[in-house]
Amino acid sequence: MQSVPHFVSGQRVAGVGEMPVFNPATGEMTALVPVPEASFVDGVIATAHEASLTWRESSLSQRTNVLFTFRQLLVEHTDELAAIITAEHGKTLADAKGELARGLENVEYACGLTEHLKGGFSSQVADGVDVHSLREPVGVVAAITPFNFPAMVPLWMSANALATGNVVILKPSERDPSTAVRLGELLSEAGLPDGVFNVLQGNASTVNQLLEHEGIDAISFVGSTPVARHVYQTGTTNGKQVQALGGAKNHMVVLADADLDIAADAAINAGYGAAGERCMAISVVVAVGDVAEPLIEKITERLDKLTVGPGSDPSSDFGPVITKEHRDRIVNYVTTAALDGITVVRDGTALADRPGFFVGPCLLDGVRPGTRSYDDEIFGPVLGVARVATYDDAVALINANPYGNGTAIFTRDGNAARVFSRQVTVGMIGINVPIPVPVSSYSFGGWKNSLFGHAHIYGPEGFAFYTRAKVITTRWPKPSDSQIDLGFPTTR
Ligand code: NAD
Repeated sequence: MQSVPHFVSGQRVAGVGEMPVFNPATGEMTALVPVPEASFVDGVIATAHEASLTWRESSLSQRTNVLFTFRQLLVEHTDELAAIITAEHGKTLADAKGELARGLENVEYACGLTEHLKGGFSSQVADGVDVHSLREPVGVVAAITPFNFPAMVPLWMSANALATGNVVILKPSERDPSTAVRLGELLSEAGLPDGVFNVLQGNASTVNQLLEHEGIDAISFVGSTPVARHVYQTGTTNGKQVQALGGAKNHMVVLADADLDIAADAAINAGYGAAGERCMAISVVVAVGDVAEPLIEKITERLDKLTVGPGSDPSSDFGPVITKEHRDRIVNYVTTAALDGITVVRDGTALADRPGFFVGPCLLDGVRPGTRSYDDEIFGPVLGVARVATYDDAVALINANPYGNGTAIFTRDGNAARVFSRQVTVGMIGINVPIPVPVSSYSFGGWKNSLFGHAHIYGPEGFAFYTRAKVITTRWPKPSDSQIDLGFPTTR
């Protein structure tokens, strides 16, 4: 069985494979991932530190050239990268290409680094005194990423971290670790010096070593809420700056005046796309007033037409989930929903009998706080409908939820939408847009248990997170102020 390599100092480095990687569409084990010894991790961090001493001094034009070339290589290698993503993650090829496109945006944004790294200047703040500011790289960044976007999330982090003169050690998810290695090779091909971008395979113990290691300066983490909280607490206790993005439970409110066909299309795309394994997936449709019955009817009509199959088959609307354990966990939410008084309108759990890790689309009616299928992030193709009487009840439901990643409202009433966007305690809001992932010139981040730390990821906040400010106050005394004869006229 082949072992997925690390990528260190510009080359693949073999490790002893220990953890299995599966093709979720077949259930077959396809590779093993190494769990490195502590001494190996120390060595990678030392390599990164050494590389950071020169990369931090690189010119902005050199970094721009690397990123422009990398952008082009990502475009040229889209099919190859999408095939790797689909083989290990299971999502459809179209979805894998979509993820690459959203990652590419971040590289394009980072290509504007001379603009983003401009400092400020104030002339004559006091007599003969000027002030200017600049931003310097933090040093070595550990990027720790989840399974559900094996290319996009590493690009969210790496594009800005490299543009700002940092060195990256990427610890990808052990479930789909191969894309990260190809990204490293393409960065090398683009001209990035050896050691500036490294991939360290591993598991929780590898992450914990990074969190405590004195050679790591900053940590960008994306994953589940319990791990995000742990990463934030441990990293900051060890003196690092940390941004840790966690899980989600995203609500989509449908008001009585909404176009229900548009809302039902949105619920299908945002609830079942990528088998619901997106942190911005809609998991709860909040039906206000009398909307529930007609909306459920429209959602089920569409749901019944969905095709579930291998991600490599162009006719599949969505593919399998990531592991057998995760499939069984999702199935359990559906088979036990009735115990909480929830109606299972559509039960896709029979697909779990297929080879691979499949679950068909499930629709639950009557989810509410205090029931497992509402309280937990299921992270599968299970959409819940919560019925509320009024708009105020919808907002109260969202604001009482411990997560605050994304939310959406469907309505024709501009004022209702505006008030909603001001009232909800959520970081990213869509108005008739179910998955409001910001474009790369805005930053991405949730509130409450969806983000630990203050900095959102990518965009302007990404540039700020990967840099430290310096402010320089300058006074050049006139020669007449000093006792030294400089040999030129003092009145200029
Ligand atoms: P995860 O938390 O299990 O793993 C994420 C990373 O943390 C992996 O690299 C893993 O090796 C490491 N890890 C796992 N357990 C650890 C532990 N105990 N200690 C230290 N490190 C540990 O997440 P996942 O299952 O890979 O990804 C799905 C989760 O990520 C979902 O909750 C989803 O909502 C969330 N997510 C959030 C965003 C966002 O932007 N907020 C984006 C994508 C995914």
